[in-house]
Amino acid sequence: MNAPAIVILGAGALATARRIQALYAERGAHAEPQVAANCQVHALQGRVEADVSYTELGAHLRELYARGTPIVALCAAGIVIRCLAPLLSNKGAEPPVLAVAEDGSAVVPLLGGLAGVNVMARDIAAALSVQPAITTSGELRFGTCVLNPPDGYALADLGQGKRFVSDLLAGESTRIEGDAPWLDDAQLPRSASARLAIRVTPRAWDGRHDELVIHPRCVVAAVVSEHGGAHAGTGTADATVARVRAALNAHGLAPLSLAAMLAPSASMADPALAQAAMLLGVPLRFADASAEPGEPGAKALLRAVLRIPHETLAGDAHASVALALSALTIDPATIGRARGRLTVIGLGPGHADLMVPAARTALNEATDILGYDTYVKMAGPLRPGQRVHGTDNREEMQRARHAFELASEGRSVVMVSSGDPGVFAMAAAVLEALEASQNEAWAAVELSIVPGVSAALATAAQAGAPLGHDFCMLSLSDNLKPWTIIETRLRHAAQADLVMAFYNPVSRARPWQLDKALDIVREYRAPSTLVVLGRDIGRPGGTLRTLTLAELRSADVDMRTMVIVGSSLTRRFACGDSGAQWVYTPRWYG
Ligand code: SAH
Repeated sequence: MNAPAIVILGAGALATARRIQALYAERGAHAEPQVAANCQVHALQGRVEADVSYTELGAHLRELYARGTPIVALCAAGIVIRCLAPLLSNKGAEPPVLAVAEDGSAVVPLLGGLAGVNVMARDIAAALSVQPAITTSGELRFGTCVLNPPDGYALADLGQGKRFVSDLLAGESTRIEGDAPWLDDAQLPRSASARLAIRVTPRAWDGRHDELVIHPRCVVAAVVSEHGGAHAGTGTADATVARVRAALNAHGLAPLSLAAMLAPSASMADPALAQAAMLLGVPLRFADASAEPGEPGAKALLRAVLRIPHETLAGDAHASVALALSALTIDPATIGRARGRLTVIGLGPGHADLMVPAARTALNEATDILGYDTYVKMAGPLRPGQRVHGTDNREEMQRARHAFELASEGRSVVMVSSGDPGVFAMAAAVLEALEASQNEAWAAVELSIVPGVSAALATAAQAGAPLGHDFCMLSLSDNLKPWTIIETRLRHAAQADLVMAFYNPVSRARPWQLDKALDIVREYRAPSTLVVLGRDIGRPGGTLRTLTLAELRSADVDMRTMVIVGSSLTRRFACGDSGAQWVYTPRWYG
């Protein structure tokens, strides 16, 4: 399932919201880590702080609903209904939507009967020690939604399912064929001689109306190149999907009985394979069959992972697709390993609102988080089970290599920087480590870089628009480059009348450099040139000052300060009674 969004309006609902979140965190820790990671409390901005903030309830609920996110709203059912009403006439796939009283005294499933809303209502109600307000007739009669089998099982055909349940409600009884442990406690009208049957089987449904067919996900399909060899190049996504479907079809197996697709590790970076698995709706896992010389087919791959006897595998030794069928449902996480991921993110200047959603998603999904301790703390709250590898700021290359080592073991690694990861931060170190390594396993890692709001941009936005025309970003640190280069660049930038954003302006180990830099700038810029100082922007106690180049003293600046030196055209003005002051550099040049 997707992780639910727990939506609250005020502080009064926070305690109940956290209890519901804890329920999913605990469950996810065992079975569904993604659910645990992404289950967040969404709170109305300005009223209460939680994990995610929103500004307007209606728009936020509609956005969650449209994305298919399950919603647990801690407010009146009527409010939720009114907010979602414009979207309801179009009855497509519907996520579960529940209203929960903010004191936890009532749990009302509203929408998403087929997506498991009643299961969620029962779970949440049990956690809150109340009775859920279940209104669905099938559920009430049978104590479970027959059309909503648990994870690891899939309903063959919804239309047939609905017909089947209305037959049961009309008084018919049913047989159960196959293993359906979740129906053991259901109050279904059972009879061994019934006309109707619930059949749990990986075999494809043959269209019979007196059967409700549920497929256990118990088949693994291994794919290798059609030209033989447990190597890359398995063909286009469509061709791979067609080969897997044909193999399933040849054995009378339903595509919904597939639990995972397995491919050789050497083809880890093949985008067509990833797409094929997505089209088939199953996770893609990888393994090596190298221990089986002379038998490079897909079957060898399966055998390497499953360690099961030959006979249970479908497909001949050299087939490019082989299937393994298990008597039980298969947890894909136990098959080979996943493709590792390394995502280099920027946290923005500090405040959670200035972190891009893609960075938040990467953090939520990470198994391992690396970075300078201060930034890792800023990235929190993390969930139990996420491994944190904090390090000293100076060990950049070592940290980059460590990230690749973890990711090439199949882990989901996030490397955090402040601001933007590509601005005087970790992204370049990560790429340098990758290029230098020539390591195939590192090259197969799914690497991505998520941008962030850099300190210069965050500072500029608070001041107005001092970067409104051409500008440059310079690091004044001579740790990684000679001071003479810094001087030359400063001189050229000052001479070119570029607005300049100084990163790393001073530190205890570099006490004189800023004064030297300002001396150079003063050779080219008038004393009246505006300077913006942003300190701890977006963090608690952040300050913003505007002064002139003549007034600026290096004592006004420390390591946590962003210095923006204006061009000859950068100006400021006071606006309205509040006396708010804006600094900007016009878009024209005169
Ligand atoms: N990758 C970061 C920059 C790292 S260099 C980014 O894109 O923002 C570190 C320097 O950035 C600091 O010395 C300081 O000059 C500046 N800086 C980082 N965060 C800041 C903040 N919140 N407020 C002001 N300056 C900041």
